[in-house]
Amino acid sequence: MSIKALKGFKDILPDEVGLWQMIEGKARDIFQRYGFEEIKVPILEKTELFVRTIGESTDIVEKEMYTFADRNGASITMRPEGTASVIRSYIENGLYVRGSVQRLYTIGPMFRHERPQKGRLRQFHQMSVEVLGSEQAMLDAEVMAMAWLLLQEIGLKASLEINSLGCPACRPSYKEALQSFVKERIAYLCEDCKRRSDANPLRVLDCKSDNCQDQYTSAPSIIEHLCEDCSQHFAAAKQGLDLLGVPYSVNPSMVRGLDYYTRTAFELITTELGAQGAIGAGGRYDGLVKQLGGPDVPGIGFAMGIERLVMLLGQKEKRASKTGLDLFLVTPGEAAYEKGFQLLQTLRILGVRAMTDHEGRSMKNQMKQANKQQARFVLILGDNELESRVVVLKDMLSGEQETVALSMDFENWAAAIKEKII
Ligand code: ATP
Ligand code: MG
Repeated sequence: MSIKALKGFKDILPDEVGLWQMIEGKARDIFQRYGFEEIKVPILEKTELFVRTIGESTDIVEKEMYTFADRNGASITMRPEGTASVIRSYIENGLYVRGSVQRLYTIGPMFRHERPQKGRLRQFHQMSVEVLGSEQAMLDAEVMAMAWLLLQEIGLKASLEINSLGCPACRPSYKEALQSFVKERIAYLCEDCKRRSDANPLRVLDCKSDNCQDQYTSAPSIIEHLCEDCSQHFAAAKQGLDLLGVPYSVNPSMVRGLDYYTRTAFELITTELGAQGAIGAGGRYDGLVKQLGGPDVPGIGFAMGIERLVMLLGQKEKRASKTGLDLFLVTPGEAAYEKGFQLLQTLRILGVRAMTDHEGRSMKNQMKQANKQQARFVLILGDNELESRVVVLKDMLSGEQETVALSMDFENWAAAIKEKII
């Protein structure tokens, strides 16, 4: 029996890779326009890092982490998200010394042991963006506007939902109000919500069960419990979005699935992916860096799931994702093949995307391969051409062809060919 990939782990095949590259390329371009720098952090971390940041009674920590004992018995976890690792690195490497505000992004795989479905995998990929060192509400608006622009530029529509989760000063009073609301309905709730109603009542609002969500429609709103500072901060963030012309709606029951959020929280949602409609989410986490042993600096960030973006784009249009060849070298004949092999290397050194056939197939077959690979030009060099020191250059779009002299000064000759085709 052949070996299959693990459940929830997916190959990204060549036909799909073009979309991935387009999305990641766009993201890097836009992040740079907003002054972000890339950081690459490890996939494995000490388990404690995620337990302390994401929170004990969250779905991720309770049931989704890939946690192992390594060969020395230490508990390690494959990162389920990017923020914790980026902050760990920020503290460990003293990145705050480089400047009071750090804008960082990272792109890579994340791991969560969830039930695999369309748009929900066990290994998935996120673009994760963090700003550390500023609590200005305009920054919240700027970060949301950047996420918004990215979706616009890759051609997707999503709605932006925002909320404020308050701060350690005002959240306790909301927690209390929510807790007594939940207790009144406890008999109708799922086991997770029953348990969480004591330890972490805010988490219940994040429950995926429709039944529980029906119960929560009349839950008290956190917005009405915000302290003066948080209220002003939220108003300023909304005003920032207005200034930038980014449309949004306020969703007072959105609490996000991680414990570390404070103040602004947001989600980017599409109706096109059913239950997997969240394509990106984030928020402020003002106490997190300090909690992990770093300086007391505020932060804000978001993560976008690349699989969901790819799915949405794939549904909309089947884009040709072929990278495309500039040239296919057709070399029927032994002597021609050998010269062609050298020519090919020279062309590639000059930056031409070129291929040839190594199997000694017929001219007709090689032309077919050139077609299949969508080569823009074909260069024909058979033994006859070699003898007469010429090649035939065919434009595959127009069908026109010309005979070009073949010089044995490969470098100059290849440069001249490159001039003609790129
Ligand atoms: P969901 O509510 O769909 O479980 P989440 O709140 O757990 O999402 P976050 O932790 O905020 O998601 O991650 C940000 C983004 O990462 C999501 O909006 C989504 O696009 C993507 N994402 C999260 N989990 C998965 C997964 N298992 N498979 C694919 N993409 C995912
Ligand atoms: Mg989730």
